[in-house]
Amino acid sequence: MRLVDLSLTIEPEAHEPVPVEVERVTHREGADILGRSHAIGHSQFPGGLGLSLEHLKLTSHTGTHVDAPLHYGPLCEGRPARPIDELPLEWFFNPGVLLSCPGTAQDGPVRVDEVRGQLREIGHRLAPEEIVLIHTGADRLWRSPAYFSDFRGLSREATVWLLDCGVKVIGIDSFGLDPPFDQMLSRYRATGDAGHLWPCHVYGRDREYCQIERLANLDAIGRPRGFRVACFPIKLGGCGAAWSRVVALLDG
Ligand SMILES: [Zn+2]
Repeated sequence: MRLVDLSLTIEPEAHEPVPVEVERVTHREGADILGRSHAIGHSQFPGGLGLSLEHLKLTSHTGTHVDAPLHYGPLCEGRPARPIDELPLEWFFNPGVLLSCPGTAQDGPVRVDEVRGQLREIGHRLAPEEIVLIHTGADRLWRSPAYFSDFRGLSREATVWLLDCGVKVIGIDSFGLDPPFDQMLSRYRATGDAGHLWPCHVYGRDREYCQIERLANLDAIGRPRGFRVACFPIKLGGCGAAWSRVVALLDG
């Protein structure tokens, strides 16, 4: 079996909208901390060193992560929206389908006819709970300011269509599943229609589903199907999202 890492590294990245802060406790400091309550210092530890650790400050949406219904709104399908730790594990380990929808912000959000055309091309009919990965190529801009503004996203219509097929988890290799902020805002300003603001996210108030945002390396899967995706989110109690080490598992 071959494993393909589909995750970004969480690291202090200059252009991140909410900067990641990492405060490191060194091996020497760790020894002093561990020994403090027993009145021993680092010099008494083997090699003069104890155990290191890190204090992190970041959002639940930093790096490759899974959005839960609670992120989209307080209610989903008329009931309290579920946080990430209450979703079934079965959603996060399933056959994957990779759809090639390359482009930039200029091309607009991925349309439903593109999704259907791709499926036709690969001769696949979606089965319920398959994990659909949208490959736009937006991760090539990671570590540049453009990563956060130059991407396609998925259209609401395509999201609705995928959920109609029974899909519960949709992943994309861009900053968000919705189009870039400036596009949504200018459409809203031009029409006054609030439906242009985070349409895919807000649709998650009507129907329960998860998004994987900020995937990477999708081209390394090398095949449109015939692989499984593991995207178990970290069990953050009561949170609307959690980080995930997303991996594609390729047999043979
Ligand atoms: Zn998110």
